[in-house]
Amino acid sequence: MVALDPVFAKIGYNRVERPIALFERGVKTLLFDCKMCGQCVLSSTGMSCPMNCPKQLRNGPCGGVRPGGFCEVKPEMKCVWALAWDGASRMKGGAAQIREVLPPVDHSLKGSSSWLRVSREKAKQGRETRDAARKAMASAFPEAREQEPASAPLSEEPPKATTTGRGT
Ligand code: SF4
Repeated sequence: MVALDPVFAKIGYNRVERPIALFERGVKTLLFDCKMCGQCVLSSTGMSCPMNCPKQLRNGPCGGVRPGGFCEVKPEMKCVWALAWDGASRMKGGAAQIREVLPPVDHSLKGSSSWLRVSREKAKQGRETRDAARKAMASAFPEAREQEPASAPLSEEPPKATTTGRGT
């Protein structure tokens, strides 16, 4: 999706938001029971959606987890954080990621596409990095020209280059 940034920019991000959000909703509802909070944190929660927690806790379980890892509010349901811990322990780097403190959920983003927002941010970061590199090159170039000798001494031609080498 990051590679599609020029296409999305041309069409207009506002225009592509709806179809991409619909597609994202379909895929993630099927796989993760996604609630489309708009700020996906699945990679930090062992792929267990924290928005399924009845208390919508985004930074770990409450103190009421029942024996066997069941939810305090819905006893028939496994605590999303018990599932998150299991999932994170199976993911590469998951144990470190689950310890990261997540920001509170921003309800104004509800229903929007996380995929599109994240890819747009990444594309913007990439552009900024490239622009900074170009600016650094441009500012370094005059200095390089100043230090460069006016004319480089010509090196001697290697012998093979002046003869055919075929015995003629
Ligand atoms: S964290 Fe948000 S976007 Fe990600 S699966 Fe859960 S509700 Fe959906």
